[in-house]
Amino acid sequence: MAGLIILTGGSRGIGAATVRLAVSRGYAVCFSYLRQQAVAEALVAELRANGGQVWAVQADVGQEADVQRLFATADGLGQPLTGLVNNAGILERQMRLVEMDAARWQRVLQANVIGSFLCTREAVKRMSTRLGGQGGSIVNVSSGAARGGSPFEYIDYAASKGAMDSMTIGLSKEVAAEGIRVNAVRPGVIETDIHADGGEPGRVARLASTVPMQRGGQPEEVAEAILWLLSDAASFSTGAFIDVTGGR
Ligand code: NAP
Repeated sequence: MAGLIILTGGSRGIGAATVRLAVSRGYAVCFSYLRQQAVAEALVAELRANGGQVWAVQADVGQEADVQRLFATADGLGQPLTGLVNNAGILERQMRLVEMDAARWQRVLQANVIGSFLCTREAVKRMSTRLGGQGGSIVNVSSGAARGGSPFEYIDYAASKGAMDSMTIGLSKEVAAEGIRVNAVRPGVIETDIHADGGEPGRVARLASTVPMQRGGQPEEVAEAILWLLSDAASFSTGAFIDVTGGR
């Protein structure tokens, strides 16, 4: 069963790689982006030119009305929702916790935690067999940071991923008998633009020697794990975590 999935943050990085792979495997994909409209539209045009079923919706996952608009758009696509990938996530400039302010924590937790919770609630409403749905699969894009804690960089970001991990564990049990599987991937250091947002565009190169495989990962390598968890190939896996970290 491929079906229709919603993926948040599909305009670049791991999200864009996952949209591409999902479309190539026959999924219909409705993805959100925040600011990069031209990039999102170019991805849609490229994939549609090859016959893909794909839609892009501007929506801030941290805003409830935006999330409801994103899901309402998917509702209008004429096929039942079968999956959600909570991929959208942000981090802010590297610093010690003692230098951070509350406004920053609110931004990070709003996008990463509240955003994932809002999207997950809307997906469960639609997919739960208890509520008349056909079941489905939710994949949370956590981070190795949830384990390591990101000292001297972004403990707030790491803590937001820890919250996603707890949600993955609890919700997997809550909806297991309702036809919904809930799993997570924990990427390590992956070659995307997120590191520039933290103020260190060269972070992957700096950390490569600390990875047992001696390199950063590619977004496509994370997308493979997400797609496996989404698919029926993972039919008996729920509450599970796949580390995509090169051994780090
Ligand atoms: P990225 O390149 O910075 O891309 C982030 C994506 O999320 C963009 O499409 C962005 O949209 C969207 N986005 C950001 N805030 C949003 C919001 N409030 N509402 C909706 N969309 C929003 O990030 P990435 O490196 O691919 O990371 C993707 C996920 O993997 C994140 O959850 C991240 O924490 C996690 N992760 C990444 C790494 C890594 O090393 N890269 C490691 C571990 C975990 P616009 O482009 O339109 O702004």
